[in-house]
Amino acid sequence: MQSGNSVKESLDVLVKKWPVDQKLYDMQVGLRTDAVDTQVRVEGVVFHVPMLSQDSLYVLWKCLWPDCHNCCERQGRLPLTKDDIALLARKMGYQSRAEFVRDEARVSSWEQDGGNGVITTLSMLSLKRKKDECDEEDGTPLRCRFLDDRGYCGIHPDKPGVCWLYPFASWLESENGRPVVHATFQFTGDCPGFYLSESLDPVMPVLQEYAKKIYDYNMAVQRTTRENYGFISFVNK
Ligand code: SF4
Ligand code: SF4
Repeated sequence: MQSGNSVKESLDVLVKKWPVDQKLYDMQVGLRTDAVDTQVRVEGVVFHVPMLSQDSLYVLWKCLWPDCHNCCERQGRLPLTKDDIALLARKMGYQSRAEFVRDEARVSSWEQDGGNGVITTLSMLSLKRKKDECDEEDGTPLRCRFLDDRGYCGIHPDKPGVCWLYPFASWLESENGRPVVHATFQFTGDCPGFYLSESLDPVMPVLQEYAKKIYDYNMAVQRTTRENYGFISFVNK
């Protein structure tokens, strides 16, 4: 999770290149207290879409690639699922997953605040964003080594699952004893694709497109932690 200050720092870099609506800037740095949660269920995923209640405007998103590739230029961490490890080891020409992990990955840990009084701590193998990435750089923005000068990803379509999801963040909650996938936008201050709208209609095709990716990614993370490729723990605040 990023602090308000680091989001502001990122936004102040972003506004030099992209227009950012002042209302959206204020919301992301915590100056708007009127953002309310709207839940939209799409294909088994509960999306939490913020709405600025004083203006009756939803905060929606669309990706501006290929004009923008800011998320790859300021990548904070690339956690790997077990499936990612298998795909990438093959893609990068390794004979074994162990060799791939030794040369290309490192362990990273971070906390997620689900806003429900529970802090989730995750530890997972992460793909190094640069060859000599060190522990101190975990969570800090770095230009990913796989991004080329035209904004293309050198390991697409085998890039880590997490790259397919940005700027969504997702998590699992128990509902009547069954796991339900939830998703929301993560406001890191690095994405110029957010906009305001009176209606949810424009974002519905996006939610349709991302629901399956988000659902599958959460199942892959579950398998990853179940098979001890990563660890997850929950702490009440
Ligand atoms: S997700 Fe956001 S930051 Fe990344 S390419 Fe799309 S618009 Fe740019
Ligand atoms: S792996 Fe590819 S998509 Fe992911 S951050 Fe790097 S360049 Fe971007």
